[in-house]
Amino acid sequence: MQAVRQSPDGCPALVLNADFRPLSYFPLSLWSWQDTLKAVFLDRVDVVAEYELEVRSVSSRIRLPSVVSLKSYVNHARKPAFTRFNVFLRDSFACQYCGKPDREGLTFDHVIPRSRGGKTTWDNIVAACSPCNLRKGGKMPRDAKMWPAHTPRQPNMFELNEKGRAFPPNYLHESWHDYLYWDAELES
Ligand SMILES: [Zn+2]
Repeated sequence: MQAVRQSPDGCPALVLNADFRPLSYFPLSLWSWQDTLKAVFLDRVDVVAEYELEVRSVSSRIRLPSVVSLKSYVNHARKPAFTRFNVFLRDSFACQYCGKPDREGLTFDHVIPRSRGGKTTWDNIVAACSPCNLRKGGKMPRDAKMWPAHTPRQPNMFELNEKGRAFPPNYLHESWHDYLYWDAELES
């Protein structure tokens, strides 16, 4: 495949679930143009919208998809992976003790300290800013008089996806707007 005019590398496709909602809001589900065309040829997606830009194959030209939807629905009821990113997303990237939003310097805090037998699990890990984490140290919540804003528990993918809606990316192609309903837009 060869680009006819400009580089297609700046032309990712927004990937929608079979219900036409984004597969993921944060990070926003985007595929490279190569992955997108592969999925089109394998008949795994429908093309919903296209860029102006065309690429040329041996026998034909094809406009790059800007929005595609999956043919089979991905079930969001499944359990998300227990990762740093997903814990922070569940906690809306804010310290669970002082409420301060902090996209860069967040840390993990064990609500029941490890020294008291606390596990590294969804129900015992919360996002905390460094000052709060230091202040709480190895103390139990009652001794430190610090309780997390929300009782930590395992979210499902649907809940994480809903959380992700609060974090719009910097760049949005115009053809994506119909499929993205950011909280920020609803407030204005
Ligand atoms: Zn804090």
